[in-house]
Amino acid sequence: MKDGGVSDDQEITELLGDGIAEELRKSVHAVADALPGNYRFNTVDLSYETRKKGARHLYDEAVAPMHRTGIGLKYPTATVDESPNAVLRKLLKFSVIHRPISTIPGIKTNFTGKIDLDIVRVATGGTYDDPGQMLGDYAAVSLRVVDRKTCEQAAQYAFSIAMRDRKSLTSSSKFTIQRVTDGLFEDIVDEVSREVQYSGQIEHRRELFDALLAKLVMNPEPFQVVLVLNEYGDFLSDLASGLVGSLGLGASVSLWFDDKGRVSVAMFDATHGTAPDIAGQDKANPTAILLAFSMLLAHIGDTGPAEAIRAGLFDCMDEGETTGDLGGPRGTESFTQALIARVQNRLEKSK
Ligand code: NAD
Repeated sequence: MKDGGVSDDQEITELLGDGIAEELRKSVHAVADALPGNYRFNTVDLSYETRKKGARHLYDEAVAPMHRTGIGLKYPTATVDESPNAVLRKLLKFSVIHRPISTIPGIKTNFTGKIDLDIVRVATGGTYDDPGQMLGDYAAVSLRVVDRKTCEQAAQYAFSIAMRDRKSLTSSSKFTIQRVTDGLFEDIVDEVSREVQYSGQIEHRRELFDALLAKLVMNPEPFQVVLVLNEYGDFLSDLASGLVGSLGLGASVSLWFDDKGRVSVAMFDATHGTAPDIAGQDKANPTAILLAFSMLLAHIGDTGPAEAIRAGLFDCMDEGETTGDLGGPRGTESFTQALIARVQNRLEKSK
């Protein structure tokens, strides 16, 4: 049951990882405890220590409650023998990754423009699913796959968030060179843009991907929702994160859609890794995982707490209340306490 945008009993599957994961988890729990909703965390330990015992059933244990509840929060995991991210992507059939990137008040950048960008990336295919093979000794070849259904899901999702947030949508690829593969992607985007619910509602334009990168760096404001194939999304996400000042503050969601095109599982995570060099030292910056948690709350309709966390984080940054990686005086725990005070302030003001 939900009262005024706050869950009174919400189960959240969290996938524990390695390195700084435990410190991040403590920070998320401390913030969750300070919110008006009631969030019950169901923890599945995906740390390497547990994984190396050969427990294949661990992944089933991780996936089953996410199927049931439709949501998950994943902490960073070390890639050793296998990449847990790749295993989960397969098991949970993620086809789309959404990564919002915006200018963060108080964070120094080399760049004066303002960014408020939603990158929607086709999560599979392109050249990334095929490592390639040698053709004799003198050349190598790999297969580039563009799958109609996955592109349709990504386009539907991108148009739906453009509609919800009243934003324009840019699709971008190398459609003049990769005429068949990128051409199919752009044709699918055009088909979706002509659907009755979007037709005439959303400004849609195409950009060649190389031109898009230059335009983003010179004048990012016109770019609001950008829809791209897998590898372009990979490059674009890091470029845009760099423009707003840190690769380490990014959060994203991976999505699985059912046959009717509805999101059936959404897994939220930080884009950084396990930071083994600072693990256990109270130095980890929990901003990215907290932004991921805020996205999760917004996804389940707890919009008040979601916005209070996001605004509280931005308040901290703006006031120089940051962890050492951003030049501030705070450790993970004291940053979390500083944030909680601001989150409570925001919740109080919104009453
Ligand atoms: P990393 O992101 O863990 O660390 C790179 C640098 O950024 C380090 O100096 C680290 O201290 C710093 N850093 C990262 N996150 C930080 C945070 N929250 N607060 C403060 N500083 C932070 O990348 P890496 O060192 O290349 O990878 C370490 C491990 O993480 C590897 O095993 C890699 O496979 C894994 N990894 C996991 C994920 C994931 O689970 N989503 C993503 C990337 C890397």
